[in-house]
Amino acid sequence: MRKLFDFESSAQRYTADAVAVCCFDARIRPVTSEFLRRNALVHPDMVIVAGGGLALSSPRTEFDRAFVMEQVRLAIQLHRAGRVILMSHADCGTYGGLAAFDGDRAREAAHHGSELCRASAIVRTACPGAAVERVFLTFDSVLSVDDQECAGH
Ligand SMILES: [Zn+2]
Repeated sequence: MRKLFDFESSAQRYTADAVAVCCFDARIRPVTSEFLRRNALVHPDMVIVAGGGLALSSPRTEFDRAFVMEQVRLAIQLHRAGRVILMSHADCGTYGGLAAFDGDRAREAAHHGSELCRASAIVRTACPGAAVERVFLTFDSVLSVDDQECAGH
C-alpha cells in the first residue's frame, strides 16, 4: 500500500446512537447531517442505499430487502443501535422522482409516508426490540411520519 495522507481517527469502540437508512442522493447529505446534529446523533451507523428506507418497502431487486435488513441487524448487533431511522426524500430518482407524481408534491409526500410505514413494519417484525422512526426529507423541510399516521397502513 502507498500512503495518501496522515489523518487521526478515534479507534474507541462506540455504541451507535441509531442506525439510519438513507438514500445515496448527494443533494440530501446536508439536510441528513443537520437532522443527525439536531437529534444529537453523534455516532450513527449509516446505511446508505438508493431509495433509503424505501429499499425495504419497495425493493428494486429481490436482494435489496435482505441486504438492507442485514445491515440494520449488524448495526444493532455490533454497535447496539437501539433506534432505527428510516429516511426517504423528495424527488428520489430511485422511484422516478417528482415526475412519477406528475409534479404533485403532496401526493409524493403521501406516497413516501405510506412506504415508510410499510418499511417500519418490516423492521419491527425483524427487530422487535428496536425503536423505529420514519423521516421524509424535502428540499426545504424535514418531516416525521408518526406512528398514528401508520395506523391505517
Ligand atoms: Zn434518492
